[in-house]
Amino acid sequence: MKKLAVIIPCFNEEQVIHEAYRRTKAVFESLPNPAEIIYINDGSRDQTPLLLDEIAANDTQVKVIHFSRNFGHQSAVTAGIHHCDADLAIILDADMQDPPELIPEILKLQEETAANVVYCVRKSRAGESRFKLLSAKLFYRTMNAMSEVEFPLDTGDFRLIDRKVIDEFNQLKEKGKYIRGLVSWVGFKQVPFYYEREARIAGETKYPFRKMIHFASTALLYFSKKPLTTVIGLGFLAVLVGIILAVWFTLGKLYGFSNAESGWTSIIFTIIFFGGVQLITVGVLGQYIGILFDEIKARPEYIIDEKRNFTSD
Ligand code: UDP
Ligand code: MG
Repeated sequence: MKKLAVIIPCFNEEQVIHEAYRRTKAVFESLPNPAEIIYINDGSRDQTPLLLDEIAANDTQVKVIHFSRNFGHQSAVTAGIHHCDADLAIILDADMQDPPELIPEILKLQEETAANVVYCVRKSRAGESRFKLLSAKLFYRTMNAMSEVEFPLDTGDFRLIDRKVIDEFNQLKEKGKYIRGLVSWVGFKQVPFYYEREARIAGETKYPFRKMIHFASTALLYFSKKPLTTVIGLGFLAVLVGIILAVWFTLGKLYGFSNAESGWTSIIFTIIFFGGVQLITVGVLGQYIGILFDEIKARPEYIIDEKRNFTSD
């Protein structure tokens, strides 16, 4: 029987920890597979670490990794995958938006199709703001337009991955992780599973606007060079506009239909337009240089403070 690990990143989730544990364990009871939970406490500042330690003290099938501070959702999931010794892993959110009750069906689908990845596609999303729904829709479609890799639409990190994929993932050296993208990129047999995403059972989203922007830009910059080619296009456009204006004013001077001396508007327009194109180009370049800078420093993606119930402890 294949061993299953459920990876759950937690950041300030004191309101949902008990309920999430209870529901996940109830699902484990119905499984023939040996199963465990790997919680990653991503530098929570509330009761989350205490609650997780309590659970781990009473249940050896629960492992806990405490980060030294908040490193972010993607780093937390990465740590979970790095520390997983099971044959299959399922990534879940602590807030139960991705219901653990679906685990038996996901496992069944994996077995029937012999898939290496079962990615869960959201048919609907309850309890999300209009802004979140719209920005998510836009994000997944932009990513597909920009990237050389084809990503399944409306799919989060809620997915099952098998040992093959885990091993390949663990070989990846980049520190900036867009996990759902990397899992697609790895390849092998990937099968969709459709579900209704539920509302958070308690508490608030831990993804404020600032983190959403960081997440989206990591995804875009690590998976696409199109922003660079786009600014080249913009540069050519600027040159074209320049040539047209030059011809227009020269002919205008010769045939008297444009009075270039009073051409204040066109001069200001040209300066602002070219200035804008240059600033955007430098900005885009800067983003990629920033990534190079971060990756060259090669700092660890996360720092672990303590671990619970790992055999090496
Ligand atoms: N999370 C985390 N670190 C963070 C932000 C979020 O580990 O810096 C966890 C959070 O506890 C949850 C999951 O990532 O289990 C998804 O976060 P959330 O539900 O707040 O995001 P949303 O569903 O609103 O996009
Ligand atoms: Mg959530």
